[in-house]
Amino acid sequence: MDRSPLFRAATDGFRWNGVAEMEYKQAGSAPFRDISRQVLFDDPALGCQLRYFEMKPGGYSTLERHEHVHAVMILRGHGTCLVGNAVRRVKPRDLVSIPPMTWHQFRASAGEAMGFLCMVNAMRDKPQLPDAEQMRAICADPTVAAFVSGER
Ligand code: MN
Repeated sequence: MDRSPLFRAATDGFRWNGVAEMEYKQAGSAPFRDISRQVLFDDPALGCQLRYFEMKPGGYSTLERHEHVHAVMILRGHGTCLVGNAVRRVKPRDLVSIPPMTWHQFRASAGEAMGFLCMVNAMRDKPQLPDAEQMRAICADPTVAAFVSGER
């Protein structure tokens, strides 16, 4: 990857000059809905990437886990996130840490888009999706089950 330009201006609606809005993941590779990805910083000297993900109202990220960690800051909108067994409502500027091998998912509220910054190692393992047995274990907690089903 190339070194980032020194300055890139923000434009309307949480977009930036010189930053492409991309698919969140390859379609069909995992469950998700109405979420886009922008890679803001990807300088090899950093060893990490800073991405901006945005979900449309009712959109959600993939329920997944992996060895690498995420450092997240909510930037716009409201929604709910799952980290392990904890379901929390989140608002702009809230910070969320995703530890290794911890199931996690973000959901925008029904009424508004939600966007968050996510810092991640450049070199990282592939996310794992829950199999049927793991999904049953995740959903043993009724609050978590309601979140995962989208009922919140
Ligand atoms: Mn993840």
